[in-house]
Amino acid sequence: MLFNEFSEICENIEETSGRLDSIDIIAGVLPGLSVEELPVFVRFLMGRIFPDYSPEKIGIGPNLVYEAVAYVVGRNRDAVIKKINSGGDAGRAIENLLAKKEQTSFFSESLDLLEVFRDFHYISGVLGNSSQKEKLKVLKRLFSNANPKEARYISRLILGELRIGVGEGNIRDAIAKAFSVSSNAVEHAYQASNDLGNVAVLAGKGEVALWKVKVELFRPVKMMLAKQGTIADMIAENGHIAAEYKYDGTRFQFHKKGNECRIYSRKLEDVTNAIPDVAEMLINASEHDIILDGEVIAVDGERPLPFQYVLRRFRRKHDIASHVESIKLVPNIFDIISIDNETLIDEPFSKRREILEESIESYVAPQIVSDDIDYIESFYKKALEDGHEGIMVKSLTAHYTPGVRGKEWIKIKPAVDTIDLAVIGAEWGEGKRAKMFGSFLLACQDETGTLLPVSKVATGISDEMLSVLYSLLKDSVILEAKNTVSFEPELVFEVGYAEIQKSPTYKAGYALRFPRFIRLRDDKRIDEIETISSIEERFKNQSS
Ligand code: ATP
Repeated sequence: MLFNEFSEICENIEETSGRLDSIDIIAGVLPGLSVEELPVFVRFLMGRIFPDYSPEKIGIGPNLVYEAVAYVVGRNRDAVIKKINSGGDAGRAIENLLAKKEQTSFFSESLDLLEVFRDFHYISGVLGNSSQKEKLKVLKRLFSNANPKEARYISRLILGELRIGVGEGNIRDAIAKAFSVSSNAVEHAYQASNDLGNVAVLAGKGEVALWKVKVELFRPVKMMLAKQGTIADMIAENGHIAAEYKYDGTRFQFHKKGNECRIYSRKLEDVTNAIPDVAEMLINASEHDIILDGEVIAVDGERPLPFQYVLRRFRRKHDIASHVESIKLVPNIFDIISIDNETLIDEPFSKRREILEESIESYVAPQIVSDDIDYIESFYKKALEDGHEGIMVKSLTAHYTPGVRGKEWIKIKPAVDTIDLAVIGAEWGEGKRAKMFGSFLLACQDETGTLLPVSKVATGISDEMLSVLYSLLKDSVILEAKNTVSFEPELVFEVGYAEIQKSPTYKAGYALRFPRFIRLRDDKRIDEIETISSIEERFKNQSS
């Protein structure tokens, strides 16, 4: 497939408003692609370059893209940045810049989809001192050979903002339709393999191949997620339910084969090296080859410490040993995903729990099973007294559904209104904070992933956190003006607020009243932030 064809398809989808039409477009293309092209096409359409489980990252910031574009169109970088800034859509701006240059260029070659992928793959592997120079060289070549529309999509892919509104759901339905296989089989294969690219290839082989997909060691699956709800509703729906403490720490997925092990974060990043003590505890906890799900907390004796302590440990790249000494971490295991190469995600929770208790000697999170609301409520009170966040109540019949926020897991915790938003800009601080960012501009997202500013936050951030934030954000600055900066969106803040108001000030049309910083959510990806429709819902609920 030529990259131009891919760009045409993206444009077509971008201009199509109906979900079913988009699915038809995609389903019409899939059967004609080769086994090599299929996974790349599918991932690219979702705005991703590598499989979700893969640690591979392209590692190119916007500045390098702008520099390459500036070179190709023969303008200076500031002029390119100005142009991009004036429209707000980097892809379109780059397309327009290249459209002007096109009249003068004679030697460009047609780009192929796989060739573009190979260039991305090559770039992701370039390391060392002169890596930026080498990456820039490849980018210059790509943009020299790209026509304007291709440049729109190449730049958006690199910057992680394809935003043509194609999500996992559309791709799943398109795969089922294209290869006449059931959505359930596609769903199973996707949950177990965590990559729709390969699922598309398997779907071409038929239904049976999809059902055979297993969860594999060292290929992390997405974490199962929880909804809000009540104990009473859960009992009414399920009868007996399981309840466990809700630990306020960091989610982990542990994979072990023999003496080898890896620990993955909620974002599926490999964090084994940051928490060698936890790795050691878990590797000794079982004889089996195993995949486990749990939450790591920091403790002072028996008592859990606030979440920020865990974060300090997970953030460490150097001097890990002294932090192992000073902040004690403990894992709490609450689920099992695979044992001795047998995938357990389609087993009911009660069965998985039995296997978990039989195969792990320590660190299994205590659980009660009951249909008595008073008993579960007293368990909840005890959880709060013991310093935990609340409880999780779970259906005993539920499968393990990676990446799904369903009604099988319900979180019960004291009501606080908090919201997860992306950090997209900042103002410099004042006085002793002059060399750090002082207040932050935050955004929610619309259904296509476009970020919409919704609030600023300056309250509730300690000096220690301000300096952590400065070190995390200083290299993400893409634009600077007077005393404000804009960031490549990478960080997520959890923010508390008193009320949501309608507001003409922010593009979202809403603003937070009395926003205050609660915590950095660097276990969450940008695409997991609050959507504008759920902010609207919060607004309506509070008015009623
Ligand atoms: P998300 O559901 O997106 O993770 P969140 O991170 O804000 O949202 P909550 O929604 O408050 O967290 O609760 C779900 C999280 O609670 C899980 O992702 C997990 O990290 C944590 N957790 C703590 N204890 C348990 C438990 N016993 N079972 C499942 N999850 C638990």
